[in-house]
Amino acid sequence: MKSELAEMALDQKRTMLDDDAPDAVPVPHALVPHLDEIAILLDIDGTLLDLMPTPREVWVPPGLSETLGRLTERTSGALALVSGRSLNDIDLIFAPDVFRAVAGHGAEMRLSVDNEADDVHAPPLDKELKRRLAAIAKLSPGILLEDKGYSLALHYRLAPHAEKAIYESVSLIRADLPNAPIEVLPGKFVCEIKHSGFTKASGVRELMKHEPFRGRRPMFIGDDVTDETVFAIMPDMDGLAFSVGRRAMGVNGHFDAPADVRAFLARLLDPR
Ligand SMILES: [Mg+2]
Repeated sequence: MKSELAEMALDQKRTMLDDDAPDAVPVPHALVPHLDEIAILLDIDGTLLDLMPTPREVWVPPGLSETLGRLTERTSGALALVSGRSLNDIDLIFAPDVFRAVAGHGAEMRLSVDNEADDVHAPPLDKELKRRLAAIAKLSPGILLEDKGYSLALHYRLAPHAEKAIYESVSLIRADLPNAPIEVLPGKFVCEIKHSGFTKASGVRELMKHEPFRGRRPMFIGDDVTDETVFAIMPDMDGLAFSVGRRAMGVNGHFDAPADVRAFLARLLDPR
């Protein structure tokens, strides 16, 4: 009886896995070039870290910072986090460790971990525009406003029913300001409004022009809609793209969950 139940549970799990990833192709280790040749580019939320009900609740599991630190050494510094979060926010999450990064969807960049003055920041969003967008958070309790300076994010994981109203309100504001250089980034339970001049992809292109990234083959891992711009440019740079949670268009392989990405990164250091 007991084993029958276990069998049934296993069957159900298999079905669920199949449903989740109909084209499941695990990441083939042999695909990954030697650490001397690659630049490791990693999205944070939903890729390195498990998603939480609110963005403030994410945490770095034991061992991850050490793995990232050792990979940074072994790639002569060619490891960068590529995130929609601000540099400031990334540093808080990984404190006391500091990593090179493309942050704020390309609005910020850190090429050197030794000198904060070298960090690059895009200009902030227009104040009046920000004020109007911020008012959208009042549509419903549970909508969380995050001001990143050069962009503004409305998180609604705690108020999923408000999705339509949020996007409608944003559209109205945009219709009112047809010449504002802004664009809307839809994400997982987040609507982000940012300057239209940069993306994660433009940030990665810029990053790859600088030492210690220049001349290396980029390997990018990401999970969300905004990561697709980076997946799309990997072939131009002879790079590799891996998605997390689903098999995205044009990737070389995919991971089921952030825990699998973390295990994969640890194995890069010690292939045995
Ligand atoms: Mg992500």
